Amino acid sequence: MLEISSLRAGYGALEVLRGIDLSISAGEIVAVLGSNGAGKTTLNANISGLYRLFGGSIRFEGEEISKHTPERIVAAGVIHVPEGRRVFPNLTVRENLELGAYRRARARRSANLDRVVATFPRLSERFDQKAGTLSGGEQQMLAIGRGLMAEPRLLILDEPSLGLSPLLVEEMFELIRRLNDDGLSVLLVEQNVVQSLEIADRAYVLENGAIAMQGAAEALIEDEGLRRSYLGLA
Ligand code: ATP
Repeated sequence: MLEISSLRAGYGALEVLRGIDLSISAGEIVAVLGSNGAGKTTLNANISGLYRLFGGSIRFEGEEISKHTPERIVAAGVIHVPEGRRVFPNLTVRENLELGAYRRARARRSANLDRVVATFPRLSERFDQKAGTLSGGEQQMLAIGRGLMAEPRLLILDEPSLGLSPLLVEEMFELIRRLNDDGLSVLLVEQNVVQSLEIADRAYVLENGAIAMQGAAEALIEDEGLRRSYLGLA
């Protein structure tokens, strides 16, 4: 579904990603793990078309998308939910969700709204509340709900568990698993290594702009090097 090869990217003269190969098959949850500054956000921004690559290619369903505008990439079904819960604080929950219905999804906005509400009952109780008054966890749910309104084929989640209480983190990972069970492919960018590997099919570990490790999630979770570097465990 998504095929990234020899991707080099960065900012001005600074090369952050130094030759990334990464793929996602339809129906997979693929985790990208890595510590602060590893290049995870840069990777997402380049998939979403926010920057021009330095080199390499990004193909989505066989089509080269690296020169497409962000709008065209969204229209193809690649939907990025950014970290930091960028909801519109002065708009209501409903208005935020409705704004997610881009282009081809616009005609089915009301049916999709019903579906998102069914997925997030907590949001439906707060439909007319200003998004800025939601709790952090609720804003994160809203950001994902807004992404779902665009009818994603591939959902890119940027640190969805960041800043959530342990209980909400559980809920968030459970939700991602449910969305995936319903057929959605997911690129999950996370610092929460154990829980990500528990729901992912495969994972890549990004270090200093290069892939340091990759493989089946269940193998990586047992990997001693990874446990030492990322979990402080031997
Ligand atoms: P975090 O988990 O802390 O968000 P990350 O893995 O997402 O980290 P990036 O945000 O991709 O890492 O940053 C990778 C490197 O690129 C860092 O050294 C950062 O300083 C640099 N960088 C990120 N954004 C920019 C920018 N807009 N201009 C210049 N350098 C940037």
